Amino acid sequence: MSLSEIPTLSVLYRTKALKAAASSAYNPNHTLNQKVSHIRHDITKLHVDAIVNAANTSLLGGGGVDGAIHRAAGNGLYKECRKLDGCSTGSAKLTGAYNLPCKKVIHAVGPVYHGHERSEPLLRSCYRKSLDLAVKNGCKSVAFSALSTGVYGYPSPDAADIAISEVRSFLIGSDGEKIERVVFCSFEMKDVEAYTETLP
Ligand code: ADP
Repeated sequence: MSLSEIPTLSVLYRTKALKAAASSAYNPNHTLNQKVSHIRHDITKLHVDAIVNAANTSLLGGGGVDGAIHRAAGNGLYKECRKLDGCSTGSAKLTGAYNLPCKKVIHAVGPVYHGHERSEPLLRSCYRKSLDLAVKNGCKSVAFSALSTGVYGYPSPDAADIAISEVRSFLIGSDGEKIERVVFCSFEMKDVEAYTETLP
């Protein structure tokens, strides 16, 4: 799926494919809605500059989206990841994309959910660090998987709220203009619903 085939929120609202949330904490912003997308798709199929993997601290692959990314990228990714010496929770590292259609893979290590207070700063940090890495590496379009919402157990509505608020802060911040598109790539229906209910 190419970037031009991924509708922005503006298009989704215009075509009524998405209804504004009844009570979003965020004010609708036309400029932001032209830079943000939400789709339900297999992230390994997206032709964007960077996809963000929900990795673990070993960076050597695992289940869920991590496994799907490593399978689709091939052994080159595993070999590069082996040289990275892991990654701490709340942080992210960037690699090549090998057989994937994107250009780079950002491996973000989300927290295992241990309650909002402990886990929220770490999940927020994953979104910020991933976008920082994207900017540093000239990636203008970035697709995020729903970090920590699978095996790591982060409740989808809280995780979607964090993802949306961090991306929003980044896009209105000093490096925001360097990112042209952020795609929230949901896979399971619970995440589709969480984003649909939270997006302004
Ligand atoms: P974590 O360990 O961080 O919870 P998981 O891989 O278990 O990571 O889940 C992260 C999210 O990725 C979940 O919402 C899951 O539904 C989603 N996911 C799984 N496979 C894919 C895929 N191929 N494309 C996009 N998202 C996926």
